[in-house]
Amino acid sequence: MKTIQVTRSSLPPLDEYIDEIKDIWESFWLTNVGEKHKRLEAGLKEYLDVPNIVLFTNGHLALECAIEAFELTGEVITTPFTFASTTHAIVRKGLKPVFCDIKEDDFTINTEKIESLITEKTSAIIPVHVYGSICDVFEIENIAKKHNLKVIYDAAHTFGVTVNGEGVGNFGDASMFSFHATKVFNTIEGGALTFKDKSLKNILNSLKNFGITSPESVEFVGGNAKMNEFQAAMGLCNLKYVDREIGKRKLIVERYMSSLEGIKGIRLIEPQEGVKPNFAYFPVVFDGYKYTRDQVFELLKKNNIIARKYFYPLTSNFNCYKGMFDSADLHVAEYIADRVLTLPLYADLELQDVDRICKIIKE
Ligand SMILES: *Cc1c(COP(=O)(O)O)cnc(C)c1O
Repeated sequence: MKTIQVTRSSLPPLDEYIDEIKDIWESFWLTNVGEKHKRLEAGLKEYLDVPNIVLFTNGHLALECAIEAFELTGEVITTPFTFASTTHAIVRKGLKPVFCDIKEDDFTINTEKIESLITEKTSAIIPVHVYGSICDVFEIENIAKKHNLKVIYDAAHTFGVTVNGEGVGNFGDASMFSFHATKVFNTIEGGALTFKDKSLKNILNSLKNFGITSPESVEFVGGNAKMNEFQAAMGLCNLKYVDREIGKRKLIVERYMSSLEGIKGIRLIEPQEGVKPNFAYFPVVFDGYKYTRDQVFELLKKNNIIARKYFYPLTSNFNCYKGMFDSADLHVAEYIADRVLTLPLYADLELQDVDRICKIIKE
């Protein structure tokens, strides 16, 4: 029996990639903001419909660079219902994550609980558009304005998503996108920051290249987070197909929905009003179903179908953070993390496999 993984990377036709990388052999220019990097940056600026964008070698370092560029200090309010990267970026930059609970319906940060967590040390909010559900961006903007806080979105899951027709990267002070192999759009590894204030562009470009600002001047203690030309070439090829890939994902999600909707004890995320989704993930919450989440996970595994307990455990419960930060009021996040399972989803997943997965879950 073939194994179905939770995800599978999108690849362009091989000959198109080979064509795209051929001129690297003529230019001998492999990295450091080459021609492909520039073309991809321009292409993504247009696709994401944002005023400013800087590319990075991955999403995580993009997030760390954003934290550096905004010179954040003290405490950052964030969600524990996310991938390791979000919390690690905060901690690795010497800041304290202050965990806020999530909402029952779409698992994004609960804006009603943010203000009670703000102290004189708070410098920013780092929310996550988790699974592609959009945070309450308007309420977060109100809170941030009132308390003079920066907002950096972890938009790793929301490539190409729009809200009332506007690219999701336009909200907050900055948004981080990930182009990791497993994401809706990939550059093998890769990432980007989109941001409002155009004066950040030079700072970010310098931070990703050792803080170098000109051949004889280094103004920042920067690291190395540059996207190379092979990554950018993959991005150029994949960008041509991303709409088609999202279209295929849509059919798969619709198939899952029609098969699993309305079953007692199975909870799905409702579409959000005004949001054009990218169908990045298909999370299912088993809450009072005849099988527990862990039982469904094992059942699928026995059939060579690999689902993922995503996101479990909460980042606040990671061994490396045990007892370090307050996580008393995370009841909804704990509840969902114990019950959620993301089912296999990628553009070329066959509908008959979706049917088989649903049948196993239902019988
Ligand atoms: C993938 C991901 C990241 C990190 O992105 P990389 O490009 O792999 O560094 C950060 N946050 C979330 C929520 C992610 O899913």
